[in-house]
Amino acid sequence: MKKNSGRTSKPTSIQNESERPKTKRTATRKAGQSAGTDKAKATALANTKAKAKAKKKKADNVGLVNQKTATQMMHRLFQQYPDADCELDFDNTYQLLTSVILSAQTTDVQVNKVTPKLFANFPTAKALAEAPIDQVKELIKATGYYNAKAANIQKCAQALVSKFGGEVPRTLDELVELPGVGRKTANVVLGVAFGVPGWTVDTHVQRLSKRLGLTEQEDPYKIELDLQKVFPQEDWSKCSITLIWHGRRLCFARNPDCPGCPINNLCPASTV
Ligand code: SF4
Repeated sequence: MKKNSGRTSKPTSIQNESERPKTKRTATRKAGQSAGTDKAKATALANTKAKAKAKKKKADNVGLVNQKTATQMMHRLFQQYPDADCELDFDNTYQLLTSVILSAQTTDVQVNKVTPKLFANFPTAKALAEAPIDQVKELIKATGYYNAKAANIQKCAQALVSKFGGEVPRTLDELVELPGVGRKTANVVLGVAFGVPGWTVDTHVQRLSKRLGLTEQEDPYKIELDLQKVFPQEDWSKCSITLIWHGRRLCFARNPDCPGCPINNLCPASTV
């Protein structure tokens, strides 16, 4: 019995021996996994804390300046440009929308040179929708990119006629559905023609909002969202046109006139 018992116990013992390293490996692996899990948890926690901190920093200091400075800068700019307004010439909303589409990659001054003749020939959306395209191209040639622009303003006019009875719609969603119309154009039309507050993130607003420390974003839509958080909604259109005027008159892309700027002691990009 003893022998048998020994025999019985030996294989068991060998079996246990052979299992021991396995158990050890499993234990080591488990310990490693546990350490890995702890490390992952610590990293996740650190990331969460960093995100919360960044979020708080962003809420407290929009972009690079704080809320108080942003408000002060804008109030001074309001005083500097009390008459800031859309500089395109137009008699009705169809003309405004068409002019804004034409203003891409050129100046309002240049657009104002071609639109009197364009609108004399095609005074309504219906007239432009049915116009000979070559004649439209010829009339707007001086604004540049005239092939694409002629196509855009005519397709837009056709959509106005077919979908909105020749009238310009009053909502952002409807406006951005029109050919050649993006958020920038739609916000100009909404603000200027219908008094709906909105940010027009054109090249000036894009450049100045970063320069003034109001945003750190590059994408126009993200800039728009940041700017919406900084200023009261009722002021969005006024803020927008004021920044555009400042960009055109003092805060030039190259060689901004910092010595003559009313916000040079607040602006993070000031050279004086
Ligand atoms: S201080 Fe200079 S960079 Fe800043 S807003 Fe004025 S002109 Fe522009």
